[in-house]
Amino acid sequence: MAPEIKYTKLFINNEWVDAKSGKTFPTIGPHDGKVIANVAEGDKADIELAVSAAKRAFHRNSEWRLLDASKRGKILYKFADLVERDAQYLAELEGYDNGMICAMSQRITTSAPDQIRYIASLADKVEGATIPLDGDIFSYTLKQPLGVCGLILPWNVPILMFLNKVTTALAAGCTAVVKPAEQTPLTALALAALLKEAGLPAGVLNVVPGYGETAGVALTHHNDVAKISFTGSLEVGKLIQKAAGANNLKRVTLELGGKSPLVIMNDADLELAIKFAAYGVFTNQGQICIAASRLFVQSGIYDRFVQAAAAVAKSLKIGNPADSSTQHGPQVDEDMMHKVLGYIEKGKVEGAKLVAGGKRVGTSGFYIEPTVFADVKDDMTIAKEEIFGPVQNILKFETLEEVIDRANATNYGLAAGIFTTNVNTALQYSKHVEAGTVWVNTYLAMGPQAPFGGFKDSGVGRETGSHCLDEYLEVKTVTVSLPKKF
Ligand code: NAD
Repeated sequence: MAPEIKYTKLFINNEWVDAKSGKTFPTIGPHDGKVIANVAEGDKADIELAVSAAKRAFHRNSEWRLLDASKRGKILYKFADLVERDAQYLAELEGYDNGMICAMSQRITTSAPDQIRYIASLADKVEGATIPLDGDIFSYTLKQPLGVCGLILPWNVPILMFLNKVTTALAAGCTAVVKPAEQTPLTALALAALLKEAGLPAGVLNVVPGYGETAGVALTHHNDVAKISFTGSLEVGKLIQKAAGANNLKRVTLELGGKSPLVIMNDADLELAIKFAAYGVFTNQGQICIAASRLFVQSGIYDRFVQAAAAVAKSLKIGNPADSSTQHGPQVDEDMMHKVLGYIEKGKVEGAKLVAGGKRVGTSGFYIEPTVFADVKDDMTIAKEEIFGPVQNILKFETLEEVIDRANATNYGLAAGIFTTNVNTALQYSKHVEAGTVWVNTYLAMGPQAPFGGFKDSGVGRETGSHCLDEYLEVKTVTVSLPKKF
């Protein structure tokens, strides 16, 4: 049964309101391509209202600014409890709107409360320093919230992205305007309702669904926005960085795409490597920024590996994401489905060897078979561009030195992995590969305690980890004259 859609309006100043224009837009279910709901379509006028509300809520005398830091944390702890209460509903809603299989959406919503609690626990641990300046003076630093933050979300893991950005901004004492992706607005609205229920004062969090070119652009150009945190494509990330400097000088955190290399050495535990290589690229139908989309396999095990990888891809059960036995669901929308099928065609035309999948499944919904290409060369389009779909590209290599250089021959630098039983090989690779996250004998293992972000064109700044609040704080140095040094 389809989950109930409780919220389809804009969330501004703790109220549910229609868009000023009265417009709505449809959100489409990836399983059958049908309209799930019509959602209020925010644009510049609504962003204006949302930013004003967030600015008022950030005033130095506001309820939010006068709240003890520990009390901010308490609201977020309450929010975590509510997410725990509604975990099943949120998982179903995510699957319905985004196409994520329920095994994954449930994993996310059952781990979400602890993710929120970890970030909530940092709220009252923001500390400055005392600094021994020369002379009869001394300095100390204050770390203070930046102000109104514009948080722009992608469609691929909407709940996780909302939580990473919103809880961190709020724990730091900022206020926020969230612009969810137009493909998946529903869970952001449901989470906003839970923050209100948790006791968040009016205006501290506002959610404005709408399109990037209208609502998104208005947010990134707004003079009263102090920071933009964005997760999405490199192309839009560049536009955002430009927009952030167009009027005032906004701080920017960017979490962008990837073309992550996973290396399998001859000495690897093969069974483990095959399992994680498939998991690394087919999770969420390949719609994860850290997908292991370049799989480098050493020559001694190459043929055996290709055969096994094709067999794993063919064995995945494709079906309705709401069905608990489904292992592979649909792409998020028709555009993405065609984009991925286009890459598969390019792979064939450019001479890669198709060993599994390659086709659309059925005619309703946006399903694509888990696809494996062998004999992929570094200069092929499928080895260079982010596909964001279920396409495993296998490349052959001979030596560690060679594979490090080839792994790094990309403008991206988000994640990387290696399977080997030789600790020296693992350490060498981990040191030299250009990526924000490196996995050894595992893949996709993550948690809120570790920093996440990209080298090179994969991003700017880090989310999660014990220093994550710093991205939402300014450092102020206060220097005090003393009659005499003590
Ligand atoms: P996208 O860049 O098209 O859109 C992301 C968001 O930006 C959406 O909310 C969209 O409405 C908005 N937007 C679009 N144009 C805008 C503009 N000009 N100004 C302001 N906002 C604008 O990305 P997508 O297709 O939704 O997501 C897929 C991409 O996200 C992939 O490239 C993937 O690798 C990346 N991603 C990165 C991470 C990470 O943490 N590094 C995580 C998830 C996804």
